[in-house]
Amino acid sequence: MFFNQDKKPERTAAFTYVIVVVIIMLLINAFILPAIVRRNIRDVDYSTFLNMVGNKEISTAQINSDYIYFSDKATPENSYRTATFNDPDLVNRLQASGCEFGTVVNRTSPLENFFFGWVLPLLFFYGIGVLLSRMMMRRMTGGEDGGGLFGGGPMMSFGKSGAKKYVPSTTSIKFEDVAGEEEAKQLLEELVMYLHDPKKYADIGASCPKGALLVGPPGTGKTLLAKAVAGEAEVPFFSIAGSEFVEMFVGMGASKVRDLFNQAEKNAPCIVFIDEIDTIGKKRDAGALSTNDEREQTLNQLLTEMDGFDGSKGVIILAATNRPEVLDPALLRPGRFDRRIPVELPDLEGRVAILKVHAKKIKVADNVDFDAIARTAAGASGADLANIINEAALRAVREGRKFVIQEDLMESIEVVIAGYQKKSRVLSDKEKLVVAYHEIGHALVAAKQNNSAPVQKITIIPRTSGALGYTLQVDEGDKYLMSKEELLNKIATFTGGRCAEELVFGTITTGAANDIEQATKIARAMITQYGMDEDFGMVALSTQTNIYLGGDSSLACSPETATQIDAAVVRIVETQHDKAMKILTDNKSKLHELAKYLYEHETITGEEFMEILNSKPAYGTEAKTAADETEENPN
Ligand code: ADP
Ligand code: MG
Ligand code: ZN
Repeated sequence: MFFNQDKKPERTAAFTYVIVVVIIMLLINAFILPAIVRRNIRDVDYSTFLNMVGNKEISTAQINSDYIYFSDKATPENSYRTATFNDPDLVNRLQASGCEFGTVVNRTSPLENFFFGWVLPLLFFYGIGVLLSRMMMRRMTGGEDGGGLFGGGPMMSFGKSGAKKYVPSTTSIKFEDVAGEEEAKQLLEELVMYLHDPKKYADIGASCPKGALLVGPPGTGKTLLAKAVAGEAEVPFFSIAGSEFVEMFVGMGASKVRDLFNQAEKNAPCIVFIDEIDTIGKKRDAGALSTNDEREQTLNQLLTEMDGFDGSKGVIILAATNRPEVLDPALLRPGRFDRRIPVELPDLEGRVAILKVHAKKIKVADNVDFDAIARTAAGASGADLANIINEAALRAVREGRKFVIQEDLMESIEVVIAGYQKKSRVLSDKEKLVVAYHEIGHALVAAKQNNSAPVQKITIIPRTSGALGYTLQVDEGDKYLMSKEELLNKIATFTGGRCAEELVFGTITTGAANDIEQATKIARAMITQYGMDEDFGMVALSTQTNIYLGGDSSLACSPETATQIDAAVVRIVETQHDKAMKILTDNKSKLHELAKYLYEHETITGEEFMEILNSKPAYGTEAKTAADETEENPN
């Protein structure tokens, strides 16, 4: 990897490595080896040497022009050294002592020196280099093993970009697998036709859009659509996530981009799909403190590659994101991602279609009413709906059934929305009663304001999400516009729970936290976004970001205005709270009756609710309410 010719950063890394190795080896040869050799040799003075010779303690002696090296008989592993002395008698003395002696120029052979000083360390560092580069390679290519430090080259030319190459037959996903999303499919159809026959377009001189950007909330089928385009066009499909370009080393991401496009060009016609492109396509802003060189280089490379593409070749670049507003404008200009394909949350019809597509994979009873399920699952994304179907199948297995029935589906919607039933959480009777009144409060306020959607189901069985009870509201159709009255009624409905608590128990609980949050959010949006307050008028007082990810808004106004907005929000919520209070006071007997029913049954359906609401007071007695009962037995 390091020695790949066209990879500048890799070459630099290898170069650095070699320099470091050479320095280390020089140090070894200059200091460490001599030190090791020297450590075993003891310097003694000449008189000691002569004494030992006289005592016949010496076994061997080697003499050169500077030193006499010798060892004694008792401890042959010890070596001694003494400086050579002008001593003409030395030879006789040594002979008399009976030791072996001679002259050496050098104690170790130069060959040996060279081997231990250079060859062995070199081998050692080469081994470490290979290991290191392998490890890095594995990190970069996600499991693929490439060459070593000095063994780069052809093994890495494929799969370097980390893009998975899909063979046409393996992506058997077709447009029919993507339900709803008709507009998106229509826009993509043209790309498919182009991929089928690029020549037809080239003949007339038309160039196909180079890139299409799929934008929409999470789970709406963007990735699925991209795969379906490849499946329909029957061309190779290169898929890579934006995050895979983000590398530790500056320049790596850019080289990956280069690589990906090289591969694509070789395999044209084909599709390159960059998922979650916002990770690399973020706006390059000059003012930011933490400029991300790596990301910027990668983005620049991407822009360059898209420009350098021959449009007639038949390579189409698809990308998906749920944060289109953070993308760099250069990425969106014509000639790059010039086509923007919105992939929105499915409408009622779309939800039914998606449910049916996924229901094909499981066994479903004949009488399942997908329409009713789709209605209940308002606001669900394709991924949610797929999840609902799967949860229903799991539930059917748990219940020991061979196929899925309506009840499984309905229950699984609640599971997906509110989590599983939490059987272990036991509410005290008093708590249960408060929750019952709270939920009925919501429902009653909703039902009495004729503009509000009717209630589908109310339950006070605790859920794993933490909800102690909830009211499932159902929109009859899809709503794209909300009037001011509807928004106000919605706020009133949110306050209804708290109102019921106040009205019946004369005290308030923590249970309304989420309601308060929602009500406040609506009230604030009415003022700052929708221009629905007379005092502020049609002025945008906040900016919206992340619309596909829940939406964050930040105020764009002076602190004084912000203070006024806060006051206005309080006013709106308070007015609606009063309205809800009045509705509940006017219908107090129904409130008691419904709460008692819910307290006893734990779950009440929309029909039961309306039945009780519209009937003459019959269920229970008016005089003796559920609340009165527990007050009589305070436990
Ligand atoms: P995203 O938009 O976040 O990329 P995906 O394409 O990954 O969403 O969708 C996730 C899953 O949700 C898919 O695998 C599919 O099962 C399901 N899904 C989403 N939208 C649809 C749809 N329109 N039709 C059928 N299934 C869908
Ligand atoms: Mg996706
Ligand atoms: Zn509530």
